[in-house]
Amino acid sequence: MKSSADSFFENLVSTKEAEVTATPPQPATPPKQPSSKSLFSHPDAHPLILDLSLIKQLGMEWFAWLPETLFAEIERVLKTSIAEVNKLKILAVQTLHVTTAYWDQWEIFEKTIQALNGVPPQLEVMQPPSLEFLYAGVDMANLIRREEFDEEVGRYCAAVFLHENVHYAPEPLEFCQVYITQPIYTCLDCDKVGSAMPPFDGLCTSCAGHFDDQKPLNFKPDPEKIEKGHGSNIVMGKTFDPEPTKKRFEELDKMPPAQLQGAIREVPEDIQAARLISAIDFRNYRTQQLKNQRASLRGWLETE
Ligand SMILES: [Zn+2]
Repeated sequence: MKSSADSFFENLVSTKEAEVTATPPQPATPPKQPSSKSLFSHPDAHPLILDLSLIKQLGMEWFAWLPETLFAEIERVLKTSIAEVNKLKILAVQTLHVTTAYWDQWEIFEKTIQALNGVPPQLEVMQPPSLEFLYAGVDMANLIRREEFDEEVGRYCAAVFLHENVHYAPEPLEFCQVYITQPIYTCLDCDKVGSAMPPFDGLCTSCAGHFDDQKPLNFKPDPEKIEKGHGSNIVMGKTFDPEPTKKRFEELDKMPPAQLQGAIREVPEDIQAARLISAIDFRNYRTQQLKNQRASLRGWLETE
């Protein structure tokens, strides 16, 4: 049996790629605001505004509709055409309402982030988002619904950060920080260097006898060795330390834009902080778009 996540995935990837163009970030020249008439055909329609207007016009029933029914109903009830890019956003919003796949499975997370940003998802191809799209996408999804992210999504997001050589993840991506940092320990008794990723019990696995049990996968320390204090002579470390970037990000993020350019030095923590500021600027640009669209459609979006 197909899960709703699988069918969402198929619906999303079957949307015709050629008809969709991603919206380039253009904060300098704000595009014309969509009106209630042009919202569904406007390429910059914000996913949350599409969601609110669908809830207003169709109630919550559309959460369960197949794409062909849903799009036909929108065209019929709202007497509007729907831009292909908005069909992607609507399907992404629908999956956030009806399944937890976005929080649980990295593939669905990735395709949903791309769709919320107006990029057509492609089957069987990895499409890691830029940090800009990652920040804007997670932020938009948080407005629809909040759930706890599964470890595999945390690890996936950490891979995106590490691919961009950024070692600090400010909110709302803080859930992936531990997978970026990858804590390690060094045992001062046996020199072992091991992973201290959760669930870590604070003991060197060689000295505390985690591998000594009769049951090979038990992976519990030997009580006798614990009694003698074995395994606890360790120092903690980090594979990638977020602190230097965090410090510079917080300093640079407070500066006025005119001052910022001259303040960025050619050192890793500044380069990383500048990358984060660019990503968060893009997220803020999307948030502003949402506020503008909400304000200009206020009367229309209000439910009677
Ligand atoms: Zn040891």
